Amino acid sequence: TDGMTIAELAKKLHREPAEIVKKLFMMGIMATQNQSLDKETIELLATEYGIETEEKVQIDLTDFDTFFEQEPNEDNLVTRPATVTIMGHVDHGKTTLLDSLRETKVTEGEAGGITQHIGAYQVTENGKVITFLDTPGHAAFTTMRARGADVTDIAIIVVAADDGVMPQTVEAINHAKAAEVPIIVAVNKVDKPGANPDRVMQELTEHGLIPEDWGGDTIFVQISALLNKNLEDLLEMILLVAEVEELKADPKRLAIGTVIEARLDKSQGSIATLLVQEGTLHQGEPIVVGNTFGRVRTMTNDKGRRVQEAKPSTPVEITGLNGTPQAGDRFVVFKDEKTARQVGEARAIDATEAQRSVTNKVTLENLFDSL
Ligand code: GDP
Ligand code: MG
Repeated sequence: TDGMTIAELAKKLHREPAEIVKKLFMMGIMATQNQSLDKETIELLATEYGIETEEKVQIDLTDFDTFFEQEPNEDNLVTRPATVTIMGHVDHGKTTLLDSLRETKVTEGEAGGITQHIGAYQVTENGKVITFLDTPGHAAFTTMRARGADVTDIAIIVVAADDGVMPQTVEAINHAKAAEVPIIVAVNKVDKPGANPDRVMQELTEHGLIPEDWGGDTIFVQISALLNKNLEDLLEMILLVAEVEELKADPKRLAIGTVIEARLDKSQGSIATLLVQEGTLHQGEPIVVGNTFGRVRTMTNDKGRRVQEAKPSTPVEITGLNGTPQAGDRFVVFKDEKTARQVGEARAIDATEAQRSVTNKVTLENLFDSL
C-alpha cells in the first residue's frame, strides 16, 4: 500500500478526496490530496468508514475469472498493441501471409534478430506494434475460445481472389462475428491471372461484409501475400481499426494472460508461450498456468532474445513450470510462491469446487493491490 495518495484512496472508498482530508483533519492529521498515506493511517480511516480491516470477502483464488474480470484501475490504463488472428479457407494464403509479414517486417530494426516460431510474433509499422497469432485457421481460434480465452482483437479474413468465398470463409466470418471481433478482409492472390477481387467483394456482401466504397463499413485490402504486395496497407488498416477499438491494459498490475502454445523440451522441461493480457510479467515471478505452477525461470521473446519483462499484448516463451499446460489455458501471477503453489496444486486436483478452492480473505490492505 506504499505510495497510496488520498486521491487514490478516495476513489477506492468511493468518497470525495476533500471529505477524506476533512476526516483526517478531525483525527488531527493535516494532509493534502496528493500526499501519500501510511498503512496505519489507511487502517484508521477504514475503521472510521466502518470497513473491517480483517475478514472482508472470501475469494476463491482457483477461479481465474476473478482475476480476468477484475475492474481495471482507470488511472493505470495505457494503449496496448492489437492481437490479430488470420482466418480463411484452406489454400487461400494464410500461412503465406503470416510468413511474409514475419520476413518483411519482423527483422526490420532488429539487427541480428532471428525470428523464432513461438506461436505469436510482433511487427512494427509506423512505430506501432501489432501482435500476430501464428496459428492460422479458425480451429485454433475456436479451441482457444472454447477454453475461455479471448485473445483476438481483430480478425483478418483471407479470401483468394481467384477462388472466391468458400465454406471455411463463411465459417471464419461466423466465428469472428460470434466473438464480436472486428473483421478486415484481405483479398489475396490479386497477382494471379484469374483474380477477380470485385467478385469476392460482391460475394461477401451476402455475408454482411460491405466495403466502405459501397456504403458499408468493412475494410477490404487487396494483397498478394506471395509477392508482398500491399502488406503495408494491410498493417495500416489494422492500426486504424486498433485505434478505433481503443485497446487498453494496465501494465502495473500482476500479470494475467493466455497460453498460445506449450511443449515439453528434453533439456529445458516445459516451455510455454504466454500472451500477456494485463499487467507486466517479470522473470522470477510465481505463476499458475492452467493446472501447472512454478516460477518464471527464463523468458524469451519472438526474436529469440532473453527478456526480463513482458508488457500487455506481448508473447513470450517461458520455462520454469512443473508441467506442460495447454493452448488456451489462462495464467495468473501471484505475489508469493506459497499461494501460487497452493492454487496450482488445487487446480491440478481434478476435484469438486469445494475441494479445489483456495480462498483468500481480502483485507483492506490487499484490496488495494492485485490479489
Ligand atoms: P493456407 O492454407 O491458407 O495457409 O494457404 P497457403 O499460405 O499455404 O497458400 C496456398 C498456396 O497459395 C501456396 O502454394 C501459396 O504459395 C499460394 N499463394 C498464397 N498467397 C499467394 C498470392 O498472393 N499469390 C499467389 N499467386 N499465390 C499465393
Ligand atoms: Mg496454412
